[in-house]
Amino acid sequence: MASIEILARDVDDLPDVCMQCGEPARQRIVRHFTWHSSGLLMAVLLLGPLGLAFYMYFGRCLNKRMDVSAPMCGAHQNHWRKRALLKEAPLLILIILGVVSAIVYLQGMFDPGRMPVSLLVLISVGVTVPFFAVISIAIELSTIRPAEISGRAILLKSVSPIFADAYKHMRLLRNAPGTQVDNEQVQSPRDAVCANRQPPRGSRK
Ligand SMILES: [Zn+2]
Repeated sequence: MASIEILARDVDDLPDVCMQCGEPARQRIVRHFTWHSSGLLMAVLLLGPLGLAFYMYFGRCLNKRMDVSAPMCGAHQNHWRKRALLKEAPLLILIILGVVSAIVYLQGMFDPGRMPVSLLVLISVGVTVPFFAVISIAIELSTIRPAEISGRAILLKSVSPIFADAYKHMRLLRNAPGTQVDNEQVQSPRDAVCANRQPPRGSRK
């Protein structure tokens, strides 16, 4: 996966290449990205409850935002939605385990020979918390996300290298003097290679 800096002026006019896989994009998904500096997070942690209270009141003002009209193929149109659901799955498992523990506890009141509820809760937490941590990290690393947002640009991580190359190519064309670039002119590098392999017209007899 690659990282790419997208200029604010281009966020609604990106090449027709899927951000996740590099295949031709069929649609645009408007994604509301938010980002805050790691310094702000450190300040909140260092100040403890005071920092948390400050963040709750002023965090929305300090967060940087940018909307991006993300080109996606049919298979990846739910890129962010699927990952949000996957992130919530461990919480659902924890709730189910809590309900099961409560049922076992209530049954244990009438049957002392069953597994002690404290042991069951310990096993539940011991399994679920590491599972939650691993799943969350894996999902976070594979999600297209902002690494920085400024008034000028947004730096996106975990995008397809093909999309990154297509966008760089589009910027080069746009920066060329006297050049007007139509979005359809910007092909993915994969398509460009395929096009170059087409035999020239009239070469067959
Ligand atoms: Zn795709």
